[in-house]
Amino acid sequence: MIKVLVNGYGTIGKRVAWALRRQSDLTLYGVVKRRPDYSAILAVKSGIDVYVPGEEELRAFEESGVRVAGLLDDALGRVDAVVDATPGGVGRKYKGLYVKHGVKAVFQGGEAPDVAQVSFNPLCNYSEALGKDFIRVVSCNTTALLRLICSLNRYFTVDRVRAVIVRRGADPKEVRRGPINAIVLNPPKLPSHHGVDVKTVLPWLDIQTAAFAVPTTLMHTHFIQVFLKEGVTREDVVRVLEGSPRIVLVGAEALGVSSTAELAEVIRDMGRARGDMYELAVWEESVTVIDGREVMLTQSVHQESIVVPENVDALRAALSIEKDGERSINITDTALGLVGGWLLWSS
Ligand code: NAD
Repeated sequence: MIKVLVNGYGTIGKRVAWALRRQSDLTLYGVVKRRPDYSAILAVKSGIDVYVPGEEELRAFEESGVRVAGLLDDALGRVDAVVDATPGGVGRKYKGLYVKHGVKAVFQGGEAPDVAQVSFNPLCNYSEALGKDFIRVVSCNTTALLRLICSLNRYFTVDRVRAVIVRRGADPKEVRRGPINAIVLNPPKLPSHHGVDVKTVLPWLDIQTAAFAVPTTLMHTHFIQVFLKEGVTREDVVRVLEGSPRIVLVGAEALGVSSTAELAEVIRDMGRARGDMYELAVWEESVTVIDGREVMLTQSVHQESIVVPENVDALRAALSIEKDGERSINITDTALGLVGGWLLWSS
């Protein structure tokens, strides 16, 4: 069994750890926490071994009485791979330690692209990541854009993309971030970094993006125009999206939902752990085709969980335990219970 350590047990790390416990070919060896807070206590209570980065943190754990399994350095000597889910920029500081121990590392989108040998989305470039030591799973917004673009590009020829990204201001637990009463140009000078980040995976693509941060914590929402080289119909596009993994069509009228708040409630009512929505939600009624070549649509992105399946696939690619991207996606999605097709109407 392949052993994986998760370093950084926050929004992304705890979800990746949860997902790893549901895979049959990967096993969660433990997680690394700095403070003996509620999430360390809950991790221990759920049977997860908690490691700490250094002696100082070890003392804090011992003083607080929260059980600690050992030091990060010891754990790295016993695992095959690490998922680094520390805050943006911190992962790079750990890279030397991962190299020292000869473990494969999966980094997150908050790290600069050059931390890894490849920026990754399994629908776009799984084979490029095979056997690599360092893989970067791109950010939540970039993952959403790539899922859509690569799914369309599989059946049609994408020529260029223009997108407006309405970003959540903070994650639900982040009490020190905002805005709380503003629409922030993010940034004022175009383009935003999202399109640039897409090009780390698809360097050939003509893409420009603008972004605004708004006072919400639930999801991001994108308005996208995809220009194709050939003529298509609306039905063609809907059929492709319906059959694409990790994308779910949301029928606003049929479900009686037309906002991220209502969509989040549907997901909670479905009984998803933590209210997570791994799928990219494409609002079906928004899908519009103009003159055959311009596809417009609106999509919503649960920022806290969308990259979780991608992290699992990145491990399979790095460790070469699955050579075929489609098979890895299928294994991950079955284990995590992703739905495809139409939300609440799919099998
Ligand atoms: P977070 O702040 O929720 O979690 C980071 C965790 O790492 C915290 O528990 C923190 O205590 C811990 N940590 C900090 N310094 C550490 C250190 N030196 N050693 C070990 N642990 C340390 O952050 P997050 O939102 O989970 O983001 C992690 C990464 O994922 C970032 O690169 C971010 O850009 C990316 N990401 C975040 C989101 C999102 O919406 N939250 C979505 C996609 C990608």
